[in-house]
Amino acid sequence: MNQLAERLSRISEPQTIKMAKLGRELKAQGIDIVDLSIGEPDFDTPVHIREAAKQAIDEGYTHYTPVAGYADVRQAVVYKLKRDNGLAYTPEQIVVSTGAKQSLANVVLSIINPGDEVIIPTPYWVTYSEQVKLCQGKVVFVPCSIENNYKITPEQLEAAITPKTRLFMFSSPCNPTGSVYSKAELEALAAVFARHLQIFIISDEIYEYINYVGKHESIAQFGDLINRTVIINGLSKGFAMTGWRLGYVAAPLELAKACDKIQSQFTSATCSITQRAAITALTGDLAPAQEMVTEFKRRRQYIHEALKSIPGLKVNDPEGAFYMFPDVSAFFNKTLHGTHIGNADDLCMYLLHKAHVSVVTGVAFGQPNCIRLSYATNMATLEKGVERLREYLK
Ligand code: PLP
Repeated sequence: MNQLAERLSRISEPQTIKMAKLGRELKAQGIDIVDLSIGEPDFDTPVHIREAAKQAIDEGYTHYTPVAGYADVRQAVVYKLKRDNGLAYTPEQIVVSTGAKQSLANVVLSIINPGDEVIIPTPYWVTYSEQVKLCQGKVVFVPCSIENNYKITPEQLEAAITPKTRLFMFSSPCNPTGSVYSKAELEALAAVFARHLQIFIISDEIYEYINYVGKHESIAQFGDLINRTVIINGLSKGFAMTGWRLGYVAAPLELAKACDKIQSQFTSATCSITQRAAITALTGDLAPAQEMVTEFKRRRQYIHEALKSIPGLKVNDPEGAFYMFPDVSAFFNKTLHGTHIGNADDLCMYLLHKAHVSVVTGVAFGQPNCIRLSYATNMATLEKGVERLREYLK
């Protein structure tokens, strides 16, 4: 296929999507797969949001919309940022996109020139590095340890910064680790950024509501960092709306305009009907979203205890999102039920084909000693998955 552009060789397909595909294939063969590779809530979108979408269709919201979103949708995002985060934005600083993934792409395309350095603490969400590489940026990974619950320290951050550093990208709550940065931890990182004015910060807050330790904190609140921080958020996780495709940025004005310009040549605006429903989601009753989080919390409690009781798994302590990210290196170079396990990839394939449990290798997230398990599935499935893990990790 030497007709294809060179840039394709720089990036790879997400392992998360690959595992989901493999799991589906085995299911189609009639195999009972316990899917713990899922990156989306297993709940349905709350009824009042669905109703708003139906009404939008009936009211004729079926045409092109402004590229950055309807004015009242951008206003709804402004309202949400004030209500939940105490942050003051204007609608011109908001760009609504076809999912947070596109929001991220718009920002990276707007900021990164070839050779620019982008600091990404690992473990990290798969897409960050690939978008940077597409722009010929240089990814600078900073490995974070399980001892610090996979969070970057101010010292590590300072040491990674060079005159070429242009961007820092992270998520809190984090995919894949579930780690949540506290206010004090963010403030300490903000103090480092205050010394390096050339750096933009992408603060991916898509799991904002799925937080078990209390109030969500954004790094944009410290000093004048709001002028260099891009908040990424969306409806996918907090409102169980992955298929609707709506994400947004809240950014410094010039950057928001740049995202608008890029989006105008790639996709135009996201779906008009989704946008109308978004107003209801962002400004309406949060109780259904909170009920979902209560259920996630119950499952987290269960799976955390269960995994801790399986010998060989070194389990982290997630405070948000819906993932566990245990260290599985104790199984490397061992033979389990006749299969040699060399690394986390081997373990995932072994678990898929022998235990019929689908999980994702930590290699995909820059931490090759780990695997990611999602608990965005019902309790009965989780219990079945845990029993199979217990049996096949013996
Ligand atoms: N950011 C993180 C950390 C995610 O885990 C995901 C989805 O898995 C996204 C962004 C993208 O979300 P969206 O569905 O809005 O594109």
